[in-house]
Amino acid sequence: MARRGGGRISGQVKVTARVRYRFSGIVQGVGFRPFIYRTARSFDLAGFVQNRPEGVTVEVEGPAERIAAFFDAVMANLPPLAAVSATRREKIPPQGENGFRITASAASGAAEVLIPPDIALCGACERELFDPADRRHRYPFINCTDCGPRLTIITGIPYDRVNTSMACFPLCSDCRREYEDPGDRRFHAEPNACPVCGPALTLLDEGGRPIASAEPLAQAAAALRAGAIVAIKGLGGFHLACDATNDGAVARLRQRKYREEKPLALMVPDLAAAQALASLDAAEDALLRSPQRPIVLVQKKEHAVVSPHVAPGMPRFGIMLPYTPLHHLLLREGFQALVMTSGNRTDEPICIGNREAAARLAGIADGFLVHNRDILVRCDDSIAQIVAGEAVLSRRARGYCPKPVALRETFPAVLALGPQDKSTISILKGDLAFLSPHIGDLATPQARDLFHESIAVMEGIAECRPDTIACDLHPGYYSTLAARQGMIPGREMSRIIAVQHHHAHIVSCMAEHGLSGKVIGLAMDGTGYGMDGHVWGGEFLVADEAAFTRAGHIKEFLLPGGEKAVREPWRLGASLLREACGDGWQETAAALELLPDAKTAVLLDRMMERGLNSPPCSSLGRVFDGVAALLGLRRAASFEGQAAMELEGAAGGKGDGELPFAVARNGERLILDLFPAVREIAQRRLAGGGAAGLAAAFHDTLVAALTAAAETIREETGLARVVLAGGCFQNRLLLEGLLQRLTAAGFAVFWHRQVPTNDGGISLGQAVCAAARLRDGQSAL
Ligand code: ZN
Ligand code: ZN
Ligand code: FE
Repeated sequence: MARRGGGRISGQVKVTARVRYRFSGIVQGVGFRPFIYRTARSFDLAGFVQNRPEGVTVEVEGPAERIAAFFDAVMANLPPLAAVSATRREKIPPQGENGFRITASAASGAAEVLIPPDIALCGACERELFDPADRRHRYPFINCTDCGPRLTIITGIPYDRVNTSMACFPLCSDCRREYEDPGDRRFHAEPNACPVCGPALTLLDEGGRPIASAEPLAQAAAALRAGAIVAIKGLGGFHLACDATNDGAVARLRQRKYREEKPLALMVPDLAAAQALASLDAAEDALLRSPQRPIVLVQKKEHAVVSPHVAPGMPRFGIMLPYTPLHHLLLREGFQALVMTSGNRTDEPICIGNREAAARLAGIADGFLVHNRDILVRCDDSIAQIVAGEAVLSRRARGYCPKPVALRETFPAVLALGPQDKSTISILKGDLAFLSPHIGDLATPQARDLFHESIAVMEGIAECRPDTIACDLHPGYYSTLAARQGMIPGREMSRIIAVQHHHAHIVSCMAEHGLSGKVIGLAMDGTGYGMDGHVWGGEFLVADEAAFTRAGHIKEFLLPGGEKAVREPWRLGASLLREACGDGWQETAAALELLPDAKTAVLLDRMMERGLNSPPCSSLGRVFDGVAALLGLRRAASFEGQAAMELEGAAGGKGDGELPFAVARNGERLILDLFPAVREIAQRRLAGGGAAGLAAAFHDTLVAALTAAAETIREETGLARVVLAGGCFQNRLLLEGLLQRLTAAGFAVFWHRQVPTNDGGISLGQAVCAAARLRDGQSAL
């Protein structure tokens, strides 16, 4: 009885408590503090909220049960762009405080704050942009806490105006009022600005000299309408723009950029304009309109009103919607579609500085539409497509970086340098992996500069300088050389861990899905350096994060001319025929008109016979190229993967049934023999078989063959999880077919979404593999 009474008494007493919460994750620059402010006030709690380098600190004081309810409400209603990765709670003595405040940011402490990605103009700002009564009517730099630049304007942490390229624009009194009012949707919107106090546009001529103009935007639009090529400063770099419906302008852009056939991205004013060019399903609609606004690869409509030079020979367009206020204003100047391709010379990184653009794009652009808000971090447009109903990234940059990939456990810190092409770098810190935006092909000095710049930027963002470096095994990759020759400043003494390319592909996908333990890895790829020095790229691995065995591979063929064969698929067609048909291959090649002349066939045969510059290769990507050549789709390519993309595009309707293949053994290893299918393709082609049906049959055959190989490995190992990674899985037909077939066969199937399945995902796999080896105490290869 006494106890019951005691309980009743304590229940009646109002106990005032004070609790300190610490939130980390994406909690700055996303309207987190005003949200906390509003929530605390709605529960009538006292205290404060403060940005700190390690996150956001909140102290609330009041009745304990109301504090608990406040916390639940916070977690249930986070702002759209916020992502809380961790919270800490600590009871502290009450201070008798009244009211709730937002206090100034604190500058010291260990950073655990995640910098948000750049986000497309939000609906509220878009309405103001086109509202004649609004003070920001037609102002190209309008933004709020829900939208605008983030990563691309930061110089340091915490994310506050003083640490951005907006620091040199003092707020006018109107903007300051918004910035300081917790009830305003621009409260602490760090890039907040207006025509009175903020950045402004300038038009430059082809030599980079300013042109006096009251309406730089209207004048740039007029130039575009007249067929000019205009370089336009965007969010993460410059675009080269021209009117996509103007044949001459698009052809001129290609010619000046030395970009023969690689598809050019389009920007269209709105969804209706996108639907006029391409057939879109609901998932593609949603991805186009998402706040990340990637370039989305979508099926071309016939008779779409853009120049045939935009994406020659390709079944798809890359389309994006406007994402900055400047884009919205420009696209509404009467354009159906603008070509908006990266402002660079072919194979170089995107330009960001006004003077840099004027110098590097001289001779390409007829004029420059620039502004005086500096871009500090290079960030290309991201590229995505819908596969099996889900968004899949093939280039991860603007809108997604630097949001980290969450890992399943805490790992030792590692810096991973990626491969050579489509390169990115990654930093592993705790249970997060920070991937850099797309860097590109490390062949040019400019790309190599960006590679080093990216390491510095990402180390700043992650606030981590790992002393372990992971790299590829390929001795010729610039990234491998940078690791091995001590070219990363301050890290000359670092431990270096080399990771096999296809193992990195599989581990990257495992990391994205939080997998551990052994899996069957299908690494279907272009090319990567194998443990035996051969060119790998059609690999069946039994792998965990730290190690792998090569359980099998696609039956090898020769790569006559080595790297040259990538640009000359007819070489691969010849090599496949030679493997498939033996001695009679030259007659078949002649009948298929595969080679320039008979002399070339003899030379090629001799070259392969003697093994001169003809490394053995098991790459599925190269099989695709060779089959495209055999089908007469493409004998010479102007960019890597072009032939394979056209083969996918050609595959129309129902295929001609599955073609023969064989799963054989070579000692311990499973060998997938695709040459029976190649022979069949050549024969049917000679008998008048159409390319579309044979291309479809080839895809069906691969789906059957890869599934058969996975089933064989399952019988031997008991493993039932299949991980799909590597550049070939950008092929939607192959990936969707395989997902269906493997799932039907009872496998649990894992494939990339947020991290590119091509070499853009390699650095993540390298980092996790190296960290797992450190964790397991086996740093040697
Ligand atoms: Zn906004
Ligand atoms: Zn202002
Ligand atoms: Fe690869």
